[in-house]
Amino acid sequence: MTQRKPASGTPSREADIAVVGAGPSGMTMALLLARHGFRTALVAPALPAADDRTTALLESSAEMLRSLKLWDRIAPHTAPLEHMRIIDATGRLIRAPEVVFDASELKLPAFGYNIRNAELNAELAEACKAEPLLERIDARVDGLETGESGVSLSLSDGGTLDVRLVVGADGRRSAVREAAGIEVREWRYPQCALVLNLEHDAPHHDHSSEFHTPTGPFTLVPLKGRRSSLVWVQEPGEAERLHALDDETLALEIERRASSILGRMRIVGTRQLYPLGGLSAKSVAANRCALIGEAAHVFPPIGAQGLNLGFRDVATLGEVLVAARRRGEDIGAASVLAAYERARRPDIASRTTAVDLLNRSLLSDLLPVQLLRGLGLYLAGRVPPLRRFLMREGIAPAMARPRLMRGLTLG
Ligand SMILES: Cc1cc2nc3c(=O)[nH]c(=O)nc-3n(C[C@H](O)[C@H](O)[C@H](O)COP(=O)(O)OP(=O)(O)OC[C@H]3O[C@@H](n4cnc5c(N)ncnc54)[C@H](O)[C@@H]3O)c2cc1C
Repeated sequence: MTQRKPASGTPSREADIAVVGAGPSGMTMALLLARHGFRTALVAPALPAADDRTTALLESSAEMLRSLKLWDRIAPHTAPLEHMRIIDATGRLIRAPEVVFDASELKLPAFGYNIRNAELNAELAEACKAEPLLERIDARVDGLETGESGVSLSLSDGGTLDVRLVVGADGRRSAVREAAGIEVREWRYPQCALVLNLEHDAPHHDHSSEFHTPTGPFTLVPLKGRRSSLVWVQEPGEAERLHALDDETLALEIERRASSILGRMRIVGTRQLYPLGGLSAKSVAANRCALIGEAAHVFPPIGAQGLNLGFRDVATLGEVLVAARRRGEDIGAASVLAAYERARRPDIASRTTAVDLLNRSLLSDLLPVQLLRGLGLYLAGRVPPLRRFLMREGIAPAMARPRLMRGLTLG
């Protein structure tokens, strides 16, 4: 990156690409770009206090992090998810049998790996510091102006940054998305998630357990040692009641809901409430701006989809940009952004629909809906080719497996 000092004293910088937002999507994108020879500016204010949430990184995301030589620093903080158990706890007339998926059926050591966001973000931030073509600018983007051949960003430190392409990784309230004129569709569910981490007496044996209840999923995902993370989706009033309980009473309620499969429990760290909703940008690229992660799509915390989808944005955009540079094209050209849009649209649309249907099928009292859900789970449990198809598609859809998620380089 080039830095000039204009007379006013505020810095005027230049780079090939600005990545706006230093969450996990933005940091991984910036690392990928810098490691592939793009002069990259990562622009975001310093991260707020530690994030106690956890993320289940599916095998395809782990594969991308291996390709980027980031996995060795991240893996020690993760717990593998070798088995996934789905338990119908709806108590309804039609109930599905319990289904257990096993990663060994796909000849994989694990479906994915669960990690605390604080640890994932800290490792990515350390990796960013060591990257010669990556400059971290500790500022907010306050505005951007798109011209014929580039974009000029106004930063909260009073400086400017001129680039050929802006990657909006600035989360659900994305300023980049708004400046690029991209509209969104946004919706709410009548649910709220209580999110916290637990210690427990019994080992989890690398099992994640998802109880399907009439108010939404209650999901325990293994962390390292005898610890697990919990996402408990509830009707909002009940979620607030649970959130207000003292640690001991809440731990007892959780143990009861989990049928004591992990023995006695203790709450560790903070607890958070997330009202459930979704957001989908009507386009993922326009006006020399490309969106990734929650700037492009927000999911309810069901089925470990959000960041895994974000990492597929990262790997795909990287692939499109490296190919465009090889052909000698302008990396911010409309044709290049259109290729990114074509590659991502079907994956984002189908995942959004699948998570929405799964969630609504739990909430529905309609008998035909319960019948279909029960039949689907029954068949998933009994028909091996269908099981394997569902497991593979759950990790990453066949239609959206970018090169870095198939162990290939970008050339
Ligand atoms: C309870 C819960 C559990 C979840 N579990 C999973 C899971 O198991 N698996 C999974 O794949 N996903 C999961 N998700 C989703 C996952 O957490 C998100 O997809 C992910 O954190 C989004 O990362 P991001 O980098 O896109 O955005 P963010 O982490 O929101 O980062 C946005 C960044 O942009 C910066 N920013 C904002 N505005 C500006 C500006 N104007 N200028 C500069 N910077 C700006 C912010 O400071 C921040 O650094 C879960 C979500 C929740 C709520």
